[in-house]
Amino acid sequence: MRRTFFLFLMLLTFGWLSAAKVVSPDGKLVFEIKVNQGEVLYEVLYEGETFVAPSALGLATTLGDFRKDLMLAKQSAVSLIEEHYALRTIKSSSVHYRAHEVIFSFNQDERHVFDLEVQVSNNDIAFRYKVYPQGETLVTRVFEEETTYVFPEGTSTFLSPQMEPMTAFARTAPSYETPYFPDGPVGQNGWGNGYVFPALFRIGDAGWVLISETGVDSRYAASRLLGKDDGSYKIGHPMEAENNGNGTVAPGIALPGYTPWRTLTVGTTLQPIVETTIPFDVVEEKYPASENYAFGKGSWSWIIKMDGHTTYETQKEYIDFSAAMGYSYVLVDALWDTQIGRDRIEELAAYAASKDVALFLWYNSNGYWNDAPQGPHGYMHQSSVRRPEMEWMQGIGVKGIKVDFFGGDKQVTMDVYESLLYDANDYGLMVIFHGTTLPRGWERMFPNFASSEAVLASEMLHFSQERCDEEAVQASMHPFIRNTVASMDFGGSALNQYYNANNTPGVGTQRKTSDVFALATAVLFQSPVQFFALAPNNMHDAPAWAIDFMKEVPSLWDEVRFIDGYPGRYAVLARRSGDQWYVAGINAGEETLQLELDPDLFVGAERLRLYSDDSGLKGSLKVQKMKPGSSLKVSVPKNGGFVLTQ
Ligand code: CA
Repeated sequence: MRRTFFLFLMLLTFGWLSAAKVVSPDGKLVFEIKVNQGEVLYEVLYEGETFVAPSALGLATTLGDFRKDLMLAKQSAVSLIEEHYALRTIKSSSVHYRAHEVIFSFNQDERHVFDLEVQVSNNDIAFRYKVYPQGETLVTRVFEEETTYVFPEGTSTFLSPQMEPMTAFARTAPSYETPYFPDGPVGQNGWGNGYVFPALFRIGDAGWVLISETGVDSRYAASRLLGKDDGSYKIGHPMEAENNGNGTVAPGIALPGYTPWRTLTVGTTLQPIVETTIPFDVVEEKYPASENYAFGKGSWSWIIKMDGHTTYETQKEYIDFSAAMGYSYVLVDALWDTQIGRDRIEELAAYAASKDVALFLWYNSNGYWNDAPQGPHGYMHQSSVRRPEMEWMQGIGVKGIKVDFFGGDKQVTMDVYESLLYDANDYGLMVIFHGTTLPRGWERMFPNFASSEAVLASEMLHFSQERCDEEAVQASMHPFIRNTVASMDFGGSALNQYYNANNTPGVGTQRKTSDVFALATAVLFQSPVQFFALAPNNMHDAPAWAIDFMKEVPSLWDEVRFIDGYPGRYAVLARRSGDQWYVAGINAGEETLQLELDPDLFVGAERLRLYSDDSGLKGSLKVQKMKPGSSLKVSVPKNGGFVLTQ
């Protein structure tokens, strides 16, 4: 009886259930809510086509099971969110976010239990749950989030498996360093533990959906995506064993409080996927920058020369190298505490300053959560020990830190990330994370956050010939998946042919991609601070045009555009810095790619520089005059690349 009355009231006030939807400003993207026998479902349509079929919503909490017996009690009027913001550290320095927002309120037994806040822009959906206090209960824990993703028949997947906790090097997993697998089937669950974010789905010939989450900080845990046998996917909390079993997998929230935003980017092509800013649109800066951070480029010896070369002599050589390249930084990697020592680090910092270069210092995040032996450790896990350390760094002119080996997505780890960033800002330090989870909106939330690894990065090229053989396949996916939602510290663009200290042929792994490929990834991979895998020997053993390009390539961009590509096969993007465009592409496919590029980006340019490969992957630079109406043809062989710029 009560239910009938409620339904009657609801229909009276808000019309039929089909009216429970949010439509994008351009009218093409629709997020629709349905309540079916007390269960809440959502559906996503684009231009009338189903991109996400009816999929469950809801939460299981200490306050009750909010996955059933739910009623849509009310929905807000549609409000228009219109925001312009500037952010130098993402792929677009000036963003215009325009979305429709509706807040849906759900009751259970006449109690208002949660709202679903939904924002729909032209190609993006973001929604989150707001949980309300019940009586005198002002806190809760969330055991499970029911949010599910059901895709239409014919969907294929581009996913990266989550690792088994407390495995891999020194029990540091999950370290978020697994490959993405293109064109996979639905109905699997990775290696048994689901998948990391972001996750890309191809909806047959209709288009694409990219799923991720954003706005994760100490107020919640980060999530993963669980694949079910029936082909659906569901939000999963961290695993019990992460961080050596420390910390809960059921995040706690003060009430009223929020879950992170779930995001879906939807398009008939990959353009909206490449150009989305949704991870940053719905989050806010958590504290002001203590200074105007100088994001920029640098070099690091570790990637080519490894642990044994974190020495005073080698780091001095890299400072000279960075100075010769016009780079701002040198990253002194693991073991400097024992192999260089604090006093000589101070000497190095002073030497660097004399060359207009500054240092980033590596730290172990530990802590009590893994066995990674590399030092310095015991400095970054707690505020009381890291603040004096950061004060020392600030005093000697260090400008940033790279903190490694986190492993885990629990709320307790999110607190470490957030408080570490907050402390570092007090001492003017930029922060890079390695052995780390995906940053979720952090470029906007934390102004001194620079970048995170969270990718099968350049070190794996050093460690594994198989990874070198597959380099182009993985690289062709990052612009469409991992790197489109967050800055990516890949640490690549090597010009060494061999990953060993002296580029000696036949020693260590061999790079299979061309020099022009290395140049192209410096454009394709976005990170406001770029530590390239270049080495001082490249000044004489790499082509002069390649070195010159690596000197000039920006690390901060004003705009990105999708040009062409298919994840796992090839990728072509355009990025703009000031009024200069760089169009860059790489090819992982067996067949040579024949591209005809639209010259519109280069209107007004008198000449263009084309870096390209011949069929034997031998690169060259050609300068050509721009003639009106002339088309720009480029061929890109397998493992090759190109860059076109003014
Ligand atoms: Ca790593």
